[in-house]
Amino acid sequence: MTTKKKDIRKLNLEDLETHLTSIGEKSFRAKQIYEWLWKKNAHSFDDMTNLSKKLRDELDQIFTIQNAKVDLLQKSNDGTIKNGVKLHDGLMVESVLIPTETRTTACVSSQVGCSLNCEFCATAKLKRMRNLDVAEIVDQVALIDKQSREYFDRPLSNIVFMGMGEPMMNYKNLVDAIRKITTDEGFGMSARRITVSTSGIPKMIKMLADEKLKVKLALSLHTAIEEKRNEIMPFSEKFPLTEIMESLQYWYKETGSKITFEYCVWGGINDGDEDIKALIKYCRQVPSKVNLIQYNPIGEGKFDHRNIKAEQRYVSELEKAGITVMVRKSRGGDIDAACGQLANKTVEV
Ligand code: SAH
Repeated sequence: MTTKKKDIRKLNLEDLETHLTSIGEKSFRAKQIYEWLWKKNAHSFDDMTNLSKKLRDELDQIFTIQNAKVDLLQKSNDGTIKNGVKLHDGLMVESVLIPTETRTTACVSSQVGCSLNCEFCATAKLKRMRNLDVAEIVDQVALIDKQSREYFDRPLSNIVFMGMGEPMMNYKNLVDAIRKITTDEGFGMSARRITVSTSGIPKMIKMLADEKLKVKLALSLHTAIEEKRNEIMPFSEKFPLTEIMESLQYWYKETGSKITFEYCVWGGINDGDEDIKALIKYCRQVPSKVNLIQYNPIGEGKFDHRNIKAEQRYVSELEKAGITVMVRKSRGGDIDAACGQLANKTVEV
């Protein structure tokens, strides 16, 4: 009978120390192993060259390192790279590298599929299969950092949790992963360069504010009119806009960091003057800015009508109201790597 080996990255530093002393090793070895796992992203025990061969073999007999691997890589004409990332159980998520002149950003997934049901989003059609564990989130960052160095000659500069899934519905692993990514024993990246994007779960927004992680927060708003939001993002019936706003105000009070509202303008859906008015009224309640995102069609006719005039009206009215607004160009659209297009189209789940 073969017993299944345990993934060593499920152990924290203390667990590792306990294990090592129990097999007669010095406890400081735990820190060395921990660094190999979380800082240097080792893929095998043989990579751990400052450990004796005997210890490496012993570890290999009991543990595995279940690294996520790039299974499929697609390059867009604009430089964006989409990775189909295979997890240890064969499930796939997608992670995207987005280069600009000054940055390289990793767009990272937090769940396989998604627990929410936004009508305009391709990932929502997959349903949630499972949450990613801490190592699976960190692996995406490590592999995109490697790609960034290989293809663009510079390290990864930013991370956005805007891939597959709702990060707040995988809260504990999200927070642990951010800690691993930002500590010196881990990836050592500045938390200020990380953005968590959420559809808006008030309780979790407050909890994240309390963690004092220094990350940025983006809220996928799309409309500030309650009934419309409930229609296009049905889960949001449970989370009224007033409650979301209260949690955003709490976020700002605790972190001092402005909120970014993400917003698509759809012809026939939210392109009227009343929509713009509602958005301005909403934004004014908390220090914030608005990113108008270009919609990437997913074959749901309802959302396919771009209204450029309305977009321009949004920009001028928001500016008049003193609210910062940016129009975000879509990236990676030709390979379905853009926002809301991550749905494993090329790979069977
Ligand atoms: N669940 C999180 C993070 C993933 S989605 C959230 O909702 O914030 C990242 C962003 O892409 C969100 O703002 C989402 O509303 C938006 N989005 C979803 N589908 C899209 C599409 N087809 N085109 C453009 N943006 C889309």
